[in-house]
Amino acid sequence: MMKEYIEEAEKALLHTYNRFQVVLDKGEGVRLYDIEGKEYLDFCSGIAVFALGYNDKRYNDAVKAQVDKLLHTSNYYYNIPAIEAAKKIKKVSQMDRVFFTNSGAEAIEGAIKAARKYAYNKDGQTDHEIIALEHSFHGRTMGALSVTGNPKYREAFQPMIGHIKFAQMNDFESIASQVTDKTCAIIMETVQGEGGIFPAEEEFLKKVRALCDEKDILLILDEIQCGMGRTGYMYAWQKYGVKPDIMTTAKALGCGVPVGAFLMTQKVADNSLVAGDHGTTYGGNPLACAAISKVLDIYEEDGILEHVKETAPYLEKRLDELCAKHDCITTRRGVGFMQGLVFDKPVGDVINKALEKGLILINAGANIIRFVPPLVITKENIDEMVEILDSCIL
Ligand SMILES: *Cc1c(COP(=O)(O)O)cnc(C)c1O
Repeated sequence: MMKEYIEEAEKALLHTYNRFQVVLDKGEGVRLYDIEGKEYLDFCSGIAVFALGYNDKRYNDAVKAQVDKLLHTSNYYYNIPAIEAAKKIKKVSQMDRVFFTNSGAEAIEGAIKAARKYAYNKDGQTDHEIIALEHSFHGRTMGALSVTGNPKYREAFQPMIGHIKFAQMNDFESIASQVTDKTCAIIMETVQGEGGIFPAEEEFLKKVRALCDEKDILLILDEIQCGMGRTGYMYAWQKYGVKPDIMTTAKALGCGVPVGAFLMTQKVADNSLVAGDHGTTYGGNPLACAAISKVLDIYEEDGILEHVKETAPYLEKRLDELCAKHDCITTRRGVGFMQGLVFDKPVGDVINKALEKGLILINAGANIIRFVPPLVITKENIDEMVEILDSCIL
């Protein structure tokens, strides 16, 4: 049965993914089921999206209620879900202004535009530069791709937006040495995701922040993957107290409803985008905002951050044990429920074997298994995952 569906899919969908050979059907908690009824323990959560697990009744009811009321109005009018969601995200992000988007990449586009406009307002010039990091990932649209530090993703799609320079994560000098009078922004993920789970070091972040303050350069932190509680803090930068001028969020923000947002401080808001500068038809529509609003409520009700802080050390401990046991695993790195196990060889076979045994994992680069489970996983789930994974490593 699955085989026929997969064949149909490959006749119609553009082949931009080498998909795993399963057709998923439904989810419950931390488990997914394929159309033949096989159960999977999910340590991917739709790439760091389903933070609350699948089929949460409170979330589903809130989304359904909004479906029955009003799905869309356009941004020419106010709507209560957007007002509520904006108020709540301001509070948890400590930022002052929010613009809702439909995806992470669009949040990055908006962040870049805000930074360029801020610089333009200062000197009227149109040749401002942005410094991004090697191994970064910010999305697949042209602007987001232009600041993504993976030449393979960019190559065929040149020219990029231009005036982008690349520096090294946790190497302050590589940034400082590339700053000029034209630099308008430095963009980075607080914890790099796709590029291999590289957390920014506190010392590095603080130096970058100080440099930005000194030169009035905007610090853009991309929290699309590492944000929304994954590190045990609502946003990863809050762990270090290094506040960005502009921040992006998406993925778990909607827990399944496609949304994103870019947020900024009042200073940036007062000196960048104004009416007519930026827009979106769907962004921040009532359906998306009802989802965001409920997600943020549930985080608070269920103490998601506390749970991550409490349980993540156990995941680290169990992964460290695997690392010690298997010579082919060279190291573990990560923060909270965003972890990577680095192998000395490609991990595709291990991931496929795990899938056969009912465990969903993904990679981050060829040699790294990435762990971005639902934030509600328990120690028992972790034990179950480790037992299956252990049996898949030769
Ligand atoms: C996934 C991701 C994006 C892109 O988000 P989309 O919703 O896929 O456009 C950008 N930045 C980071 C850090 C991501 O992990």
